[in-house]
Amino acid sequence: MVRVRFAPSPTGELHLGGARTALYNYLFARKNKGQFIIRLEDTDRERLVEGSLERLLSGLKWLGLNWDEGPDIGGPYEPYIQSQRLAHYQHWAEELIKQQAAYRCFCSLQRLEVLRQVQQNEKQPTKYDRACLNLTQKDIQEKLSAGTPFTIRLKIPPGQTIFKDLIRGQIKIDNFSLEDTILLKSDGYPTYHLANVIDDHEMKITHVIRGEEWLPSTPKHLLIYAGFGWQPPEFAHLPNVLNIHKAKLSKRRDGEAVWVQTYKKEGYLPQALLNFLAFLGWHPKDNREIFNLAELEKEFELERVQKAGAIFDIDKLNWFNAYYIRSLPSEQLDNLLQPYYAAIAGGSYLPVGKTLLLTKLLQDRLTTLNSVISQANWFFHPPAILNPELIIPVQSSAGKTARALKEAIHILKNINDWKIENIKNSLEVLIRPGTFSRRDLLWPMRVALTGEKESPDVFGVAMVLGQKECLARLEKAEKIINQTNVL
Ligand code: GLU
Repeated sequence: MVRVRFAPSPTGELHLGGARTALYNYLFARKNKGQFIIRLEDTDRERLVEGSLERLLSGLKWLGLNWDEGPDIGGPYEPYIQSQRLAHYQHWAEELIKQQAAYRCFCSLQRLEVLRQVQQNEKQPTKYDRACLNLTQKDIQEKLSAGTPFTIRLKIPPGQTIFKDLIRGQIKIDNFSLEDTILLKSDGYPTYHLANVIDDHEMKITHVIRGEEWLPSTPKHLLIYAGFGWQPPEFAHLPNVLNIHKAKLSKRRDGEAVWVQTYKKEGYLPQALLNFLAFLGWHPKDNREIFNLAELEKEFELERVQKAGAIFDIDKLNWFNAYYIRSLPSEQLDNLLQPYYAAIAGGSYLPVGKTLLLTKLLQDRLTTLNSVISQANWFFHPPAILNPELIIPVQSSAGKTARALKEAIHILKNINDWKIENIKNSLEVLIRPGTFSRRDLLWPMRVALTGEKESPDVFGVAMVLGQKECLARLEKAEKIINQTNVL
């Protein structure tokens, strides 16, 4: 049975790279009828940010990635929060000493700091000099009885570590390049390496699918497995997510744009973000691009994940988002847009249940839900000040514009069934050589109805406003033109 896990550290929001890792783990589990587990790796107490777990989980839920075991729902190997599993790590660290794959290190922080400086000055690699590796049992007993604080370090054996990464192929590391890493700190907390290996073993994880930044840790992990005599899981290291400058997407450089939460706030749909994330490092056999989660669950193959970094291209995300907005049932989109409409209406009237036509009109024009804010103002607020110079098209005149508006008003008043085809067909009768060009008629109408130079289709705007409101706005514009002296 395939068992994979997403093991975030609680350092804040769900990162896009993290969400991509979670998604690939999820897809791999579902594709193989396996299980997807969430585990919180919170042993680095200095980097801990309060409330992270809730935010991470809510980000995953928003994306629709459900898990089978985790900190909130428990499971057969609970707890799924590392700080609640300290006794396991302490027990296993002692066990590793018995297996002679680890040893106690009594070096003080001060000694380690001096060592580091000396090595730096001598341009040597900075690495623990194994001063405590060969302490006698007597030395050790004395230090323990004296209460000298100690850490437990991995004893890196000579030789090479060779393993097969499912994405990168065979990887070979000279053990000499590795340090006797600390596994258990003097305060009894494990480091990432120990806790990660113990939990993956105890939780029966079969495949470790994680970001490329953890690749250098894998040989150490394999040596820990070997020290215990445990069968290691398989490993797959996913390519980095890069920004358009090809640097790793990072909070420091790219600000809040690295968080899933930011995209939610900016009006991206989870289906769009998921589809986009799936393509950050993977692509299917053919060139289809639109995949919902269920389709991804069937199509996803770890073998098709690329080695090279994947570039985060916001234009592509916008393209996916516009696509998914267009594809939503209009009623559903209308519901999603209600908070935005309320914000635009801003305390002025909000015609409850009356926005569906507006939503339908705008649906194809939205890139994000938020983009409705700059496109729907005219629906809620009649143009405040109408500038006659804006109403009159260049190359037309005040007289002609006044006539165009007058005739439009006349025609629109006589429509009995206020439907877009009727509005369009009747108005188009006015557009004839020798009378009005499209621009002569539609430009002033657009400005009169919306106050803007750009808007959705004028006939649609007229229809959405309703006959009464439409006529009122046109009449107001006509009056303004008639009052100008530029005739
Ligand atoms: N806690 C690590 C992280 O924050 C997990 C790395 C792993 O999956 O082994 O990404």
